Formats: sequence, C-alpha cells, structure tokens
Amino acid sequence: MSIIQIEHLKKSFGENLVLKDISMDVNKGEVVTIIGASGSGKSTFLRCINLLETPTGGKILYKGENVLEGGYNLPNYRTHLGMVFQSFNLFNNMNVLQNCMSGQTTVLGRKEAEARKVALENLEKVGMDRFIDAKPAQLSGGQKQRVAIARALSMDPEVMLFDEPTSALDPEMVGDVLSIMKNLAESGLTMVVVTHEMAFAKEVSDRVIFMDQGLIAEEGTPEDLFVRPKEARTKEFLRRVL
Ligand code: ADP
Ligand code: MG
Repeated sequence: MSIIQIEHLKKSFGENLVLKDISMDVNKGEVVTIIGASGSGKSTFLRCINLLETPTGGKILYKGENVLEGGYNLPNYRTHLGMVFQSFNLFNNMNVLQNCMSGQTTVLGRKEAEARKVALENLEKVGMDRFIDAKPAQLSGGQKQRVAIARALSMDPEVMLFDEPTSALDPEMVGDVLSIMKNLAESGLTMVVVTHEMAFAKEVSDRVIFMDQGLIAEEGTPEDLFVRPKEARTKEFLRRVL
C-alpha cells in the first residue's frame, strides 16, 4: 500500500530548475534510500515531500489525496512525517527530555505525563534515556542525532525522512546512528533515507534511488543498483563512491 505517491514533482529556485520531474511511491514498511552526487537535488526532494519547500509543480498524494491542492489540511499532513536533519536541529535551550516532549504537547495536544512516557520510550530505543537532563551543547554529535531521532519518533510519524543523518558526525559515531536506523527499519518503520553510506543502503534498503541532476536516473533493489547498474551515470557515480 502506498502511503505517499509523488507524481511529476518539480521545484525551481528562480531560474534554477532543481527537481525536473520526479515520480516515486513510498509504500508502508518500506525503506527507500536515495543516493546521488552533491547538488543533485536530494535534500530539496526530501524538503518538498514534507513541504519545507513548496513544490513548483506536480502532485504529492498522501493516502490518495493531493496535499498540494487548496483546502488540504497541511499541518495535519506534516505531523505524519518525521524528519531528521544532517545538522540535528535540536532546540538548544531545552534539555533532552523537553526536546522530545515539546512537539507532542504543542502539536499533538498530548498531556505532559503521556508525552513524557512516549519520550522516555523513544529515548530508551536510541540509548539516550540516561541523558534526559542534558542540554544539546553537552552532547556529542552522535548523541544529538540519537536524540533528534527519538524526538521525531515521539510524534509517531507514519514515514520518517532522514537527510544524511550521519554526514556531520565524527567517524566513530556513525556506526551507532546507523545501527539505530537499521533497528528502526527492521521494526517495520517506513523510511526514506538520503545517505552517502553505501554499505547501509545496500544492506538495509528495499529500494535504492539514484538521483542525478534533478531526476531519478535509476532505481531498483540494492542488487539492481549496486551489482548490475544499467545506466552509465549510475556506474560512474558508484565508481567514484565505492
Ligand atoms: P543535494 O542534497 O543532492 O546535495 P540540494 O537539494 O541541496 O542537493 O541542492 C540542489 C540544488 O538546489 C543546488 O544547486 C542548490 O544550490 C539548489 N538549492 C537548494 N536549496 C536552495 C534554496 N533554498 N535556494 C536556492 N537554491 C537552492
Ligand atoms: Mg543534501
């Protein structure tokens, strides 16, 4: 079952057509990874999916309804999507627990006690439940990213979007975050992951999408993409990164 269907999505910044014509579906329980060179439009694509950027054209269907049509309840749509950024984007003035509770109380209207319980469950999942009183500034990059994941999960998203979640981390932190993501994938969470971690993409994805210059150049199973790529552009990219 498709949760999100993207049809002929386009996005330009002024004259710069960054997403030229992107169509893809996200099915329930699926892990889709997006790979591609820097500047190919991967972040813009994720940001269009959760409407941090307004697409210039095309459709985004959520459970069959086009969220870009006038009158659609956008705040409601957004609460179904969790996002984890390269740069963590935690609230620096709040401690770890507050970071994981605030969206729940303000956006979802949960009571404090329930929000706290959900936050603690998710912090435990990412191994950060011992740090509830810490402020982001006291944490390592890897710890911050684990909190950011717990914060997003606490909103019970239907789909989690990850934009290069390990790119800003020191090498020794990367493995922890990837293994948490792998656990989430195995638990059946629907995930769209932009990553440069090719081993992760190979091992965890159901489907890999290779983006090049604002288009999906090739997509398929990890086997298709990494073992028998068809397109010259895919082969060339893999030659550079593997
Ligand atoms: P990737 O994530 O694959 O590296 P991006 O989506 O960040 O690629 O960027 C694709 C192109 O879109 C780049 O040329 C970038 O300069 C441009 N771009 C991204 N965001 C903006 C923005 N807010 N304003 C203008 N141009 C942008
Ligand atoms: Mg990017």
